[in-house]
Amino acid sequence: MREIIVISGKGGTGKTSLTAAFAHMASPVLICDLDVDAPDLHLLLQPENTETHVFMGGHSALIDPKTCTGCGTCREMCRFDAVSEDNGTYCIEPLRCEGCGVCVAFCPAEAIAFPEKECGRWFSSETRFGPMMHAQLYAAEENSGKLVALLRTKARQKAEAIGMELILSDGPPGIGCPVISSLSGVSYAVLVTEPTPSGRHDLERVASLARHFQVPAGVIINKSDLNENECSVIEDFCRQQGLDIIGRLPFDPVITHAMVHGKAVTEWDSGMFSARIRELWNRICGLAACRKDMNHTTINN
Ligand code: SF4
Ligand code: SF4
Repeated sequence: MREIIVISGKGGTGKTSLTAAFAHMASPVLICDLDVDAPDLHLLLQPENTETHVFMGGHSALIDPKTCTGCGTCREMCRFDAVSEDNGTYCIEPLRCEGCGVCVAFCPAEAIAFPEKECGRWFSSETRFGPMMHAQLYAAEENSGKLVALLRTKARQKAEAIGMELILSDGPPGIGCPVISSLSGVSYAVLVTEPTPSGRHDLERVASLARHFQVPAGVIINKSDLNENECSVIEDFCRQQGLDIIGRLPFDPVITHAMVHGKAVTEWDSGMFSARIRELWNRICGLAACRKDMNHTTINN
C-alpha cells in the first residue's frame, strides 16, 4: 500500500484544491484529510458520513468543592492562570486549563479530578471519489498530532479491509506536531508552493522536515506564472536538495470557480488546465513508484 501526502508548509497555496483534483484522477482512492484543526477538503468532496466517533485527547482539571480545603495551592501553582477564587471557593476555568496536571499533583487534599476530555470527532465517510477519513478538532483544543496519528491508523486499517492500494492525504499546514505526525512513514510527499519569498521560505522548512523523516518528496509550483524569477530560485533549491521538480501550474481562475461550485477543478474544467493536472498526477505516481523501487533496492543491498 502506498501513501501519498500533499503538504505546503503554508496556507493558500492551493494544496486542498490540488488534492481534490488528484483524488478525482486516482478515483477510486482512499482519501484522508489530515488538516484536523481546520479541515476543508469536505467542502469539495461533500462526504456522506457513515461513522462518527468521539476523539478523547488530553485531560482537564476539576475541583471537588466538598473535598477542597481552600488552601490556594492550585492557584499558586497554575502557570496558566486557570484557577479562580471567589470568597474562598476555588474553581478551574475549563477554557484556560491546559491539562498539565500540576495542580492535581500538588493538591494536599486530593480534591482535583483529572478526567480525559472530548477534544473532537473523527469520521468515516463515502465520497464520489472513494472512501474518506476525516476529523474535526474542537476550537482551542490541542493534541492535533495525536488525532492525525489516529486518523492515519484508521485509514490504513480501512484501506487494508477494502483492498485499496493507495491512500491520498491532504496534509496539515505548517511544520508543527500535526505535520510531523502526518509525514512519518509516507511513501511520497508532494510539496505545493507558490513563487513568493514566503512560499519559498515555508517550502524550505517543510522540505527539511521531509528530509529529516527520509520521505521522498517533490515540488509543484502553483501560480507559477506570477513570478518567473522566483520559480527559478525554487527550482535551483530543489536541485540542490535532491527534491523532484514535479512541475509548474499557472494561475487560473477556473480553480476558484470549481471551488465555489464544490467541485474538483478536473471535474469542472475539461481544458488545458485539467490536462496539466493530469500530467502532474501521472508524474507523481511515476516518481512515487520509482522512489519506492529505489528504497527496496537500497534495503535489499
Ligand atoms: S490545592 Fe486542592 S485543596 Fe487547595 S484550593 Fe486547590 S483544590 Fe482546594
Ligand atoms: S491542570 Fe494545569 S493548567 Fe489546568 S488548572 Fe491544573 S495547573 Fe492549571
